[in-house]
Amino acid sequence: MTRSTLLTHARIPGQGAHEILINDGRVARVEPDLSDIGDDVPRVDCRNQLVLPALVDGHMHLDKTLTGLPWMPHAAGPDRSSRIETEQRMRAALPPVVERAPNLVRQCIAHGTTALRTHVDVTTDLGLTHLEALLTVREQFARQVSIQLVAFPQTGVLCQPGTAELLERAVAAGADLVGGIDPLTFDGGADAQFTTLFEIAGRHDAGVDVHLHHPGEQGLREIEALVVHAARHQLEGRVTVSHGFALGAAAGDVVTRIGTQMAEAGVSLVTHGGGASPLPPVKRLRELGVEVFAGNDDVRDPWSPFGTGDMLERAMLLAWRSGYRTDADLALALECASAAGARALGLEPHGLAAGMRADLVTVPCETVAEAVVSRMPRGLVFHAGTLVARDGVLIGDA
Ligand SMILES: [Zn+2]
Repeated sequence: MTRSTLLTHARIPGQGAHEILINDGRVARVEPDLSDIGDDVPRVDCRNQLVLPALVDGHMHLDKTLTGLPWMPHAAGPDRSSRIETEQRMRAALPPVVERAPNLVRQCIAHGTTALRTHVDVTTDLGLTHLEALLTVREQFARQVSIQLVAFPQTGVLCQPGTAELLERAVAAGADLVGGIDPLTFDGGADAQFTTLFEIAGRHDAGVDVHLHHPGEQGLREIEALVVHAARHQLEGRVTVSHGFALGAAAGDVVTRIGTQMAEAGVSLVTHGGGASPLPPVKRLRELGVEVFAGNDDVRDPWSPFGTGDMLERAMLLAWRSGYRTDADLALALECASAAGARALGLEPHGLAAGMRADLVTVPCETVAEAVVSRMPRGLVFHAGTLVARDGVLIGDA
């Protein structure tokens, strides 16, 4: 039997008041008047709010978050090694990941995120403990949000003997992608680390998502090396550069050259628009054919006190830092936080067209641009046609 829901008083971007019929988790009809639908079909009143495709967070660290805990002042120094040490020091006194991570997952869902990719630390001191916790959390929230896991070697791969084996065990245990990090800093060479990552990915049919932070020449070399490995292993559409700050600091002709290589190899880029780092030129890379999408990255954790898990806020920051002002540019920023993320994560398309998966969010705004600028509290959130949050409160909480 078909499971149907009729959304009434829905405002469709650029089209005004409509009604939306959802059948078995997919949008079936979007029309100004669907009064022909029988009274036996349950109605959900969208209260004249704007209905948008739900948000997608392409880069998180659920296992690091302090969300929901008493406020802890930022304790780390200004560099990455200090943040790693601080995090390791704080960890013993924190509640376990399986208790902390849901605090942030709930906030993400309430903000209209129905799919996310989180990195999870896989290191020789942690083993697979964080992965196992997030596998449990993924199961716990399966009805409300789709979670993708990246096995993340926070302290390097080859420089920490045993890490490669742990990454392999992580993808065998359920991680969807193999992660990596700054190979020239940690592992003495890009090819050495990437060869290891791509061999693991190849053996387990996994994707690859690598944190590349270097802002200069080193970062560019790492991105180019990643592109070579992606092409060699024919992992088109399944390899991501996380951050790629070097592209934000590079000259236009360099961006054109490397962006073209990325597009040809199907290597995407996820950005969080971090305030102290060069921002890759989002629009230019998209013009070149690179799938650019957005993620919150650290949300209130030992790495950063900022963040709420709200991808509308992230779209606003991306737009603000990029100097976007027109409605078209603001819509592009939202696309990075929604449909582009779904494509990069390899998810089926979601949104308002008939046949699409009914992952939707409502916002009390008139237009897409206003939604990005105002970041008004979300009204309703649907995941695969199921109402999972209303006015910031989860329904049927896990
Ligand atoms: Zn990250």
